[in-house]
Amino acid sequence: MVLQDLGRRINSAVNDLTRSNNLDEKAFDDMLKEICAALLSADVNVLSTSPPLPAAVNKKRLIQKTVFDELVALVDPHAQPFRPKKGRPNVIMFVGLQGAGKTTTCTKLARHYQTRGFKTALVCADTFRAGAFDQLKQNATKAKIPYYGSLTQTDPAIVAAEGVAKFKKERFDIIIVDTSGRHRQEEELFTEMTQIQTAVTPDQTILVLDGTIGQAAESQSAAFKATADFGAIIITKTDGHAAGGGAISAVAATHTPIIFLGTGEHMMDLERFEPRAFVQKLLGMGDVASLVEHVQAITKDSSSAKETYKHIAEGIYTIRDFRENITSIMKMGPLSKLSGMIPGLSNLTQGLDDEDGSMKLRRMIYIFDSMTAAELDSDGKTFVDQPSRMVRIAHGSGTTVREVEDLLSQHRMMAGMAKRVGGQKKQMQRAQNML
Ligand code: GDP
Repeated sequence: MVLQDLGRRINSAVNDLTRSNNLDEKAFDDMLKEICAALLSADVNVLSTSPPLPAAVNKKRLIQKTVFDELVALVDPHAQPFRPKKGRPNVIMFVGLQGAGKTTTCTKLARHYQTRGFKTALVCADTFRAGAFDQLKQNATKAKIPYYGSLTQTDPAIVAAEGVAKFKKERFDIIIVDTSGRHRQEEELFTEMTQIQTAVTPDQTILVLDGTIGQAAESQSAAFKATADFGAIIITKTDGHAAGGGAISAVAATHTPIIFLGTGEHMMDLERFEPRAFVQKLLGMGDVASLVEHVQAITKDSSSAKETYKHIAEGIYTIRDFRENITSIMKMGPLSKLSGMIPGLSNLTQGLDDEDGSMKLRRMIYIFDSMTAAELDSDGKTFVDQPSRMVRIAHGSGTTVREVEDLLSQHRMMAGMAKRVGGQKKQMQRAQNML
């Protein structure tokens, strides 16, 4: 399977066509051929899924939709991920190669559960890497999460068992065990993993995969699956450029759900995996160009909107800019028409009718309005350092912490795009000319 290139190939084929003003049959057929070839090489049955093509004008849409649906089906393993229950200990064990992002992601996940009312603790069973315990200790302290580890015990299975026993006794709901990695898949790593698994009998084992490794994800996840049968995957470093194909490979190879994506080095950079949003990003459906165009369309008259637009051209996107965009969108009428144009907006309003969709946007405005001026003008990092701010804002706006988190992660995604626009000199030039 050549999954690594799938997203890129489809993306460029669709983009070629969408850019071309002259949507003639030949351009269309070329794209169709390219997409069929890409899908076939990824073992997707093109013939059974492509309906007969209607008039040319709808073809572009149809192709995009077919490709989109196929890829969503590919990353959705149709398996339910594990859901921890309160009032009993849930032991979660992390596995993965060194550098994949295990230690970082352990703390992110612990923080995630902690803000949802689970009593959460971390155990460092990485006795292999010098400094691993220190790193976990630092992260855990910052997130105010109790932790356990040892500087003297060299047997990771013993440390793991001790830590889990201690936190079970103290009635913790979630106990996350970080294990060691190696640079390569080695016999010793797998032996150690099985020993820890036997020692702590986890309710859930999670494989942490570096999203930038591309095609290697397939063999790596298969090797881990064979030894330490994991029930969920977290893909890290999806804020980098190359993420995508690898994730699809891992799911295809193991039929295991991806539950979260790591989207940065900070503690809050953890997003729930949504197959549709993921594929949308992979295909660049809400891409930089459409963001620029959209902002251009909705910012014609307002001066604060011009400010936002100028910001985007410079690669800046504050929370206030996001508020401005949402306000403009609300002025523009039925959401169903607009949601496809903005990355993530369709994700936000998916499955909602226009009325529910506008309610969701209104609740976002309540959230913005509960922020201080400094928070609005920030890049959002201030919430990473002080998560209690989110609780304050949820209370103040009559919404939930989940909604505040979703809004912030949405903002981070938009900010990431703005940054890329800012980095693209040509587009910046174009943007400035349009002011
Ligand atoms: P471990 O060896 O598997 O425990 O990996 P670490 O947790 O130490 O992470 C390795 C490196 O990857 C560190 O520099 C992390 O800051 C970085 N990292 C982890 N997750 C992410 C992510 O989602 N995005 C980015 N950009 N970096 C990450």
